[in-house]
Amino acid sequence: MEAIGVLMTCPMSPYLEQELDKRYDFFRFWNFPQKKEFLRMHSHSIRAVVGNATIGANAELIDSLPKLEIVSSYSVGLDKIDLVKCKNRGIRVTYTPDVLTDDAADLAIALILATLRKICECDRYVRSGLWKNGDFKLTTKFSGKSVGIIGLGRIGSAIAKRAEAFGCPISYHSRSEKPDSKYKYYPNVIDLASNCQILIVACTLTDETRHIVNREVIAALGPKGVLINIGRGPHVDESELVSALVEGRLGGAGLDVFEHEPEVPEQLFGLDNVVLLPHVGSGTVETRKDMADLVIGNLEAHFLNKPLLTPAF
Ligand code: NAP
Repeated sequence: MEAIGVLMTCPMSPYLEQELDKRYDFFRFWNFPQKKEFLRMHSHSIRAVVGNATIGANAELIDSLPKLEIVSSYSVGLDKIDLVKCKNRGIRVTYTPDVLTDDAADLAIALILATLRKICECDRYVRSGLWKNGDFKLTTKFSGKSVGIIGLGRIGSAIAKRAEAFGCPISYHSRSEKPDSKYKYYPNVIDLASNCQILIVACTLTDETRHIVNREVIAALGPKGVLINIGRGPHVDESELVSALVEGRLGGAGLDVFEHEPEVPEQLFGLDNVVLLPHVGSGTVETRKDMADLVIGNLEAHFLNKPLLTPAF
């Protein structure tokens, strides 16, 4: 039987690479600077693409792979995959839901605590020897603050559960009200932002949610409000966010994701009311192994004509 070609778009997991190498005719796309030449040589053997939150499968890549049957994403977010094109061509799409929920929710809470309690600044204070000159300034309490969540899905719900343990009243915005939820629902993001002290972005990135946090939402959150983004960078109008933080129109921000990552606006580097992370929401050894196993399991299921483990649609 002809070897099955599997193309990985960018480096994501040495374990996953090793396992795919064992099973398939495995190509590391980043090792081929001449992409067009590579595709001319191999496009007819490639039946699967493995992408992630950095590089998925855009229209150009999909169009250049006539034998593509499945895109298996090493992520839960599918914003880097042209889903319409996949559907139209009958290409199956899988992702890694659930296994990363705890990590992303844990990190959202960590970002809240780090931002309000200035944990990173405290650490710098000790390391640079400033403690000898006097005590650190007072910070802001988290327990009991009102938390608003945009997107009460898997991750949003896990964040809510954790924030409840801190005694926080929870409210949320999503496309539809969750009938089983005890949290207050706001059909409008501005109303949610006006009625919470900490606003957390945890929704899917789509055309509708791009810049869901805009100038008006930031104004509604106000100079004492804190924004936490654990979703995707483009959920937030970043230039509006930066000017609001610089001008003191927003209290603070904890950001795991950025609109043009890995580029981060330099104006943020000088601010002590922001905490900046390099998109590490699911970045633990344990979770990345589980995500890799899901990618492997989905590809295996597909090529053995078995039901997919985690189909995206
Ligand atoms: P999920 O269970 O599908 O939840 C998505 C939520 O987004 C749902 O509550 C949904 O509302 C809401 N939503 C979708 N479209 C919306 C719209 N137009 N307006 C308002 N809300 C909308 O997904 P999940 O597993 O929780 O993951 C959520 C996102 O987190 C992923 O898509 C990914 O981008 C991001 N993420 C980031 C990291 C990281 O490293 N920072 C890690 C993992 C995931 P309805 O329920 O009303 O449809």
